[in-house]
Amino acid sequence: MSDAAEALTSAKAAADRLTKAKRFNALLTPLKEVRKSLLQQAAAAHPGGVLYGMPVAVKDNICTLEFTTSCGSKILQGYRSPFDATAVTKLKAAGALIAGKTNCDEFAMGSSTEHSAYGRTLHPLDKTRVPGGSSGGSAALVAAGVVPAALGSETGGSVRQPASFCGIVGIKPTYARVSRYGLVAFGSSLDQIGVFGRSVHDAGRVLSAISGRDPKDATCEDRDPLRLPTVPESLQGFVIGVPREYFPADLDPGVRRACDRVIKILRELGAVVREVSLPHTASAVPCYYVIAPAEASSNLARYDGVRYGPRLDGGGGEADVRALYRATRGAGFGAEVRRRILVGTYVLSAGYYDAYYRKAQQVRALLAQDFRNVFDRGVDLLFTPTTPTPAFKAGEKLGDPVQMYLSDVFVCTANLTGLPAMSLPIGRVKGLPVGGQLIGRAFLEDEMLEAAYALERAVPSVEEV
Ligand code: GLN
Repeated sequence: MSDAAEALTSAKAAADRLTKAKRFNALLTPLKEVRKSLLQQAAAAHPGGVLYGMPVAVKDNICTLEFTTSCGSKILQGYRSPFDATAVTKLKAAGALIAGKTNCDEFAMGSSTEHSAYGRTLHPLDKTRVPGGSSGGSAALVAAGVVPAALGSETGGSVRQPASFCGIVGIKPTYARVSRYGLVAFGSSLDQIGVFGRSVHDAGRVLSAISGRDPKDATCEDRDPLRLPTVPESLQGFVIGVPREYFPADLDPGVRRACDRVIKILRELGAVVREVSLPHTASAVPCYYVIAPAEASSNLARYDGVRYGPRLDGGGGEADVRALYRATRGAGFGAEVRRRILVGTYVLSAGYYDAYYRKAQQVRALLAQDFRNVFDRGVDLLFTPTTPTPAFKAGEKLGDPVQMYLSDVFVCTANLTGLPAMSLPIGRVKGLPVGGQLIGRAFLEDEMLEAAYALERAVPSVEEV
């Protein structure tokens, strides 16, 4: 795209398509507001940027000047950030247009987007099902063809899992590849902004645009932006590990068939495929659900009715600060967020710290060692299913948090170890998308994307298996 007229056409078309988002409750920003802003942004966008005129939707836990940032929570209803997240600043610098804020589980806690205070997002192919979560709104918009790409966030799989459920590409970069400045903190040692795309290339070029150093985030690596690889002719020279722990006996048979087909294709493409073992995998979900709530309980202490969002004084007037906290937090946080705060403060409390939090940190180190052992033995990439089943029914896991948590079993390991990972569509089972996951070595996203490009061309991703 080259001139302002084209950016304007793109903005108008995106605004028209966004009306579809209403049907599945994917967007939290009012349509009129997005349309107006898109047209303004198109007029002001940087011509010549690599994403010039590209509409990109942004998860509601990433700060933007344009729209409110509520994190899917009542406690931040109407909150407007005074600054853009660095990823958003970089998108704008590349000429992209911010196409509104997307629905998500409250503070990104969940795997189905049912924990949003603003109602659940529906799966774009089947309204009775969930789109995955917590970045379900972003995934649904991309899957429905409303926007070519969107930002999500990952603490424990929240981009890859919904990408898998919705049949699109979702990438979680290496921890520290993308600045977290302006990403509302959930679990700071795990959080990374990730991207959704209709294709590997769209997701890759948005990731490339938002990656790279940022003086505002001390945990962000001092590195140049990611450079995209070219589409390879074959995968000759690649050694791909298939970890047996990711193929348990109770894996959905359709998911297994889709993965078997990919393994066959990887071999046909010239890769060496080898079975490997990551022996501590079964401890990843319990480890994650100690560390993430611990960090969340600390990060969420800032929502007290004093600094951000609506304030309820609890009837005691300004002088009674405890009543103010109680009333604001009591009304502002939903059930899942409270559960996390309670679990988090419990595992960090003096009597239980050693038994839970310290133990979880030790398990985290063992998980990292598992991956190192495999990569040290010449494996370049791992291939696994992204999720144990295709998209589940709305309400199915809502009453049983542990079942909900278990749907993260194959994705949370990459967050705990900081490794780059992505999901791409590898087939359909009874019409529902199935995702396959690639996990790479730290900061070697280019290798992972190379394999993804090859698979994207070779795998019949919308066919039944
Ligand atoms: N489903 C996980 C959780 O509920 C992951 C969330 C995320 O990645 N933001 O914590």
